[in-house]
Amino acid sequence: MFQAIVIDKDSERQWAELKTLDESQLPPGDVTVRVSHSTLNYKDGLAITGRSPVVRKFPMVPGIDLVGEVESSSHPDYQAGDWVILNGWGVGESHWGGLAQKARLNGHWLVPLPQAFTPQQAMAIGTAGYTAMLCVLALERQGVRPEHGEIVVTGAAGGVGSVAIALLAQLGYRVVAVTGRPGDADYLQQLGAVEVLDRALFSAPGKPLAKERWAGAVDVVGSQVLANVCASTRYRGVVTACGLAGGMDLPATVAPFILRGVTLVGIDSVMCPREERLVAWQRLASDLKLDKLGLLSHDIGLGQAIETAHQLLQGTVRGRVVVDVNA
Ligand code: NDP
Repeated sequence: MFQAIVIDKDSERQWAELKTLDESQLPPGDVTVRVSHSTLNYKDGLAITGRSPVVRKFPMVPGIDLVGEVESSSHPDYQAGDWVILNGWGVGESHWGGLAQKARLNGHWLVPLPQAFTPQQAMAIGTAGYTAMLCVLALERQGVRPEHGEIVVTGAAGGVGSVAIALLAQLGYRVVAVTGRPGDADYLQQLGAVEVLDRALFSAPGKPLAKERWAGAVDVVGSQVLANVCASTRYRGVVTACGLAGGMDLPATVAPFILRGVTLVGIDSVMCPREERLVAWQRLASDLKLDKLGLLSHDIGLGQAIETAHQLLQGTVRGRVVVDVNA
């Protein structure tokens, strides 16, 4: 028997509750994992609260990422005792996920836990941090270097934003944080931001082209904020777009792209090929200062996950939330 958060629905409503399940109920898969930690990402918030139709099968155990020890495996790459990480692949959406003490998964979804991290630290990074690294890798691939100028990070006090600031600052970039919580300026500066701007400056409809400022961007907000970031990106600058915390729309013009040669790069962590995941986790191991992880994360137990998911969507949770599923 094991404990798990379970999302279910009937004809009238959808709900989430902490339940005790039997191992025989686990979905098919070639690796069974004793989960140590999971996390709460924005998507987990959407799933648990039911605010967006993230869950595609019911009942569902949410949790788009996890770290744990392999209990049994028929996959050639893994054996009992190995420590593994899972991010995405539809887990927590269409396959039972990490907010549970046990998971059964497909071996080709897993990556080994890097030696640099404890299980808790791996989940302090989690899918949000791995996505931040994918954004950094994309900026590098497009040729953005620290000497080219400032990088703007939106949704800065959230999970992706916090890790992106810590990573970019460590790599020598001058990072400007955009937040709806100017009261968190100290926190953002401790992570490495050199300047903190109020999100209100980016939230109203702006001109197709604004004053050129950013050499690069990591945007988790979408909508009007992303449009204004593109409009204020410098000639041949690069904007990575990974989120929709402010909305799915993009009320922009083509002006930044055709007059300034701005590149808009889409970032997806869910179906990202395994080779790139391995690179991202290796780079996280080498480039992310562990003391920053302590600053940007806090731990909760499985029993607090539902309540915290609601707070996450209200935008009141800072940084990353690690869920110790055995606490
Ligand atoms: P968090 O909730 O931790 O952070 C989101 C941040 O966005 C908030 O902290 C807040 O930052 C800002 N924000 C929240 N609501 C609004 C709003 N209405 N308007 C403008 N800004 C807002 O979420 P995550 O960091 O986990 O995820 C961020 C986004 O990235 C989500 O949309 C998520 O779905 C997406 N994502 C995408 C992935 C991919 O593969 N493409 C993978 C992981 C995440 P502040 O208070 O500082 O303004």
